Amino acid sequence: MTQPELDECRALLQSKRTELIEGSPAHRPLSTAAGTPEIDPRAMMLRNVRSALVRIDEGSFGECLICHRYIPYELLAVTPWATWCLVCRKAADARSCGSGSGMEETLVNAGDRGGHRQGDA
Ligand SMILES: [Zn+2]
Repeated sequence: MTQPELDECRALLQSKRTELIEGSPAHRPLSTAAGTPEIDPRAMMLRNVRSALVRIDEGSFGECLICHRYIPYELLAVTPWATWCLVCRKAADARSCGSGSGMEETLVNAGDRGGHRQGDA
């Protein structure tokens, strides 16, 4: 990844972080009032965005956390907080089979709704 690409991802992450922190309270999950420990997708996304910014500073940004191959820039340009490459994501999806344990997938989908929606095969 080149320095301009890295800067681009950093800028995306920083604006996403601001958006998540200042996010509209209208989107709060309704079930929080029931006292159920609800996982807030925004809080989890914020954690991912922050760790991606840390990885930029550390120089390990863009590396898949599982297989350590580089995540394609086309993917990072849309979801710079992605921590898995497409191969590992697909493998995780196949394992979870929609059982709800695909945490990373949930995060990616949440991010897609907030910004550019792309035809993801
Ligand atoms: Zn991977």
